[in-house]
Amino acid sequence: MVAKVIDGKAFAANVRAQVADHVASLKKTNGITPGLAVVLVGEDPASQVYVRSKGKQTVEVGMNSYEHKLDASTSEEDLLALVDRLNNDPDVHGILVQLPLPKHLNEDLVINSIDPAKDVDGFHISNVGLLGTGQKSMVPCTPLGCLMMLRNHHGSLSGMDAVVIGRSNIVGKPMAQLLLGDSCTVTIAHSRTKDLPDVVRRADIVVAAVGRPEMVPGDWIKPGATVIDVGINRIERDGKNVLVGDVHYESAAQTAGAITPVPGGVGPMTIACLLANTLTACCRANGLPEPEGLTA
Ligand code: NDP
Repeated sequence: MVAKVIDGKAFAANVRAQVADHVASLKKTNGITPGLAVVLVGEDPASQVYVRSKGKQTVEVGMNSYEHKLDASTSEEDLLALVDRLNNDPDVHGILVQLPLPKHLNEDLVINSIDPAKDVDGFHISNVGLLGTGQKSMVPCTPLGCLMMLRNHHGSLSGMDAVVIGRSNIVGKPMAQLLLGDSCTVTIAHSRTKDLPDVVRRADIVVAAVGRPEMVPGDWIKPGATVIDVGINRIERDGKNVLVGDVHYESAAQTAGAITPVPGGVGPMTIACLLANTLTACCRANGLPEPEGLTA
């Protein structure tokens, strides 16, 4: 079997187009423009790239983008004061504090100071609790993107065996909650899991979020399974820097029924879902119906 390639780039473009349509109609009908504020503390090069890309795509879908760049030595007090201002700004519907923060800042404290209704990353403890109890929440962007692609490929996920490899708060755990919410039978694997190959071989859906280049080989994949590769790993191959996932793509694609490539799979969906979350937050804040198909 040669797997169908799930094209995250095209899927993300479609999500952004849907968001742009909703934004245009919100402006026209309600005179409202959704706004996303992104806070960057310090000069981490990868974070700078992400923030630039988020700002650009926010404007492209017709939303307002507010960028706040703070010095690496910014005090916790000043950062919390900025978050408080954004919480109280009616033009700001989504707030994202780019992680990681410099070491002297308490990430949990800062994230939990964001108004949960504006927490478009879905990391606030209230949103984690709401998701865990199956209530309406803001859902972390990367797992939301994975869920959208899985639903699109399968229709219903009900009754499927899913394995999530990785138990981080930003990917693994919320991904498992979302799959459970869609009635999968979910196993969460991690570095202490015994006989990981055997666990993975039972799965109809494999989500790999580990951060280890090409760790999952094709012979762990059940024939016909759907493989969602969240990993983004930079490695050197043949003297060139290349991006690879957590799954060994070439071998897994021989066995899987469908697979996301790296790059061009889950990656582009993350910012598209950030925009979708900002739109959702804006609709909720204004008592308007939420956009269909863009939330969990
Ligand atoms: P973390 O480092 O926070 O978590 C990694 C998880 O993998 C941990 O739960 C760890 O287990 C588990 N793990 C590590 N080694 C093994 C192993 N040998 N066998 C089984 N499990 C293992 O990573 P993140 O969740 O933040 O990210 C995971 C990957 O996804 C990274 O490559 C990251 O770059 C990528 N990513 C991609 C995004 C996108 O937009 N596409 C967004 C976010 C992340 P334990 O808990 O036991 O230590």
